[in-house]
Amino acid sequence: MPLHELEAIILRHYPLSDADRVIVALTREQGKVRAAAQGIRKPKSRLAGCLEPSNHVRLQFWSREGRDLGRVRSAEVIHSFLGRDPDFGRMCAFSYFAELVNELVPEGQESPAMFRLLLSSLQAGAGRPVNRALVCYFEIWCLKLGGLLPNYAYCSGCGKCVKDKGFLAWIEAGQARCPSCAEGRGLPVGPAAAAALEAMMASPPDRFAALTFPAGALEDLERLSRRLLGMHLDKQLKSYRILREAFQGE
Ligand SMILES: [Zn+2]
Repeated sequence: MPLHELEAIILRHYPLSDADRVIVALTREQGKVRAAAQGIRKPKSRLAGCLEPSNHVRLQFWSREGRDLGRVRSAEVIHSFLGRDPDFGRMCAFSYFAELVNELVPEGQESPAMFRLLLSSLQAGAGRPVNRALVCYFEIWCLKLGGLLPNYAYCSGCGKCVKDKGFLAWIEAGQARCPSCAEGRGLPVGPAAAAALEAMMASPPDRFAALTFPAGALEDLERLSRRLLGMHLDKQLKSYRILREAFQGE
């Protein structure tokens, strides 16, 4: 059975038996993988603690062609983003990042850009308190890398550039319309939100998360990403509900 050594971020795990667990990880080299970690639920397992969600690890595992479940040989932690005593907001945000990636990335598809997005967003969220700007950044970039973010630079009615003026998003059509072509229909994305969207496309997550935004800018983008994600995910993510509660009052 071929042995793989991959750089991975653990997305989730679930029990396989009394002693074993399946881990789901996003790898830099092979996209999303699943592997059985044998004996990990025993108290003296060498793997226990290494394969926790949000951990950045070097993972060795065997996998056989045509089999979707590999077997973990060893794991070494490169960085644990939640550490020993994570704060609640960070824990909620990182769970949401992992669940979103797990939903959007199909198994067997290489996603090096998604790996870089997840890693840099975890780094940004570990270096400072997680805020709504970081979460918004992560959602919009997930949509973009998943090919689910329409091009909102131009009005699809008249061709006018709308990226610095704001627009109305026609969600199902995947189009932007300027106010005169939209005739009151569509989801409003104001000028400040359109500018934030531009900044997002040109900044790494730590820089974007440190910016301040005019009132309503992030809210418009949150509504936009919620509608776009809602169209592509067939369920409400549990971690999102909890994250909303954690951010209430911000
Ligand atoms: Zn127009």
